[in-house]
Amino acid sequence: MSAGDRRVRGADLGGRVALVTGGARGLGAAYARALHAAGARVVVADLLDDEGRDLATELGDRARFVRLDVTDEASWAAAVEATLESFGAIDVLVNNAGIANAAPIEHLTLAKWDAVIAVNLTGVFLGCRAVVPAMKAQGSGSIINISSVEGMRGSPGLHGYTASKFGVRGLSQSLAVELGQFGIRVNSVHPGLILTDMTTRIDPAKLDIPLGRPAVPDEVAGTIVFLASDASSFTSGAEFVVDGGMIAG
Ligand code: NAD
Repeated sequence: MSAGDRRVRGADLGGRVALVTGGARGLGAAYARALHAAGARVVVADLLDDEGRDLATELGDRARFVRLDVTDEASWAAAVEATLESFGAIDVLVNNAGIANAAPIEHLTLAKWDAVIAVNLTGVFLGCRAVVPAMKAQGSGSIINISSVEGMRGSPGLHGYTASKFGVRGLSQSLAVELGQFGIRVNSVHPGLILTDMTTRIDPAKLDIPLGRPAVPDEVAGTIVFLASDASSFTSGAEFVVDGGMIAG
């Protein structure tokens, strides 16, 4: 890059193809809307047929809904095939689908542990594995894995969730190291308390958030658009904490 070319490349996603898991509601829906607004063609992938279809319809002809269970290999193969069939490429994968459960360790059943690991960690592995062949063939791609502040520190009762989110952080780093040579970037995002269906039972007053409030989903979406775009062309293997300063304290 010559000195004259040294300018910040913007977050224009013109025509890029992005698949967002868990895209039907909550944070995933905010990511899908923001990526679409930045010019991307967006695949909303979720178990929730009605909400997912409604969002794709609202976004219009640069969007479509695909039913996806992130824990299922065949479902991933079908979703990637549908994306390539509709839009001819897959440039951005946002592995956002997630669930949470909580229990003190003596009461954490194997079924609860398995469920949270299956969606939050195995689902991310399956998603990355499913898109890499197309990204390698293109010679480019951005994989954005949604972890949490719980992927950076522990909290009582959140054992399976925390283990899954630390796992997502580690997987993102091993993938970033392996896939950089193919032009594929992999980063993890670590939201703090964001107001969605997942967090209705959490009292923000009990958390020490320097900005003094929880966030709404749109406040994380800017980081996702940045990581999807050429504005982050040299950013890989990095961890983006979006938590109002909470874990800095
Ligand atoms: P949410 O419950 O509102 O949405 C989760 C979405 O994932 C839903 O649309 C759901 O249908 C989908 N989903 C669940 N299991 C799935 C599966 N097997 N296959 C496909 N889709 C599936 O939750 P949210 O708050 O929007 O969270 C989104 C992500 O952000 C999760 O990974 C969560 O762990 C993470 N996160 C959330 C917060 C927060 O404060 N809300 C903080 C940190 C991290």
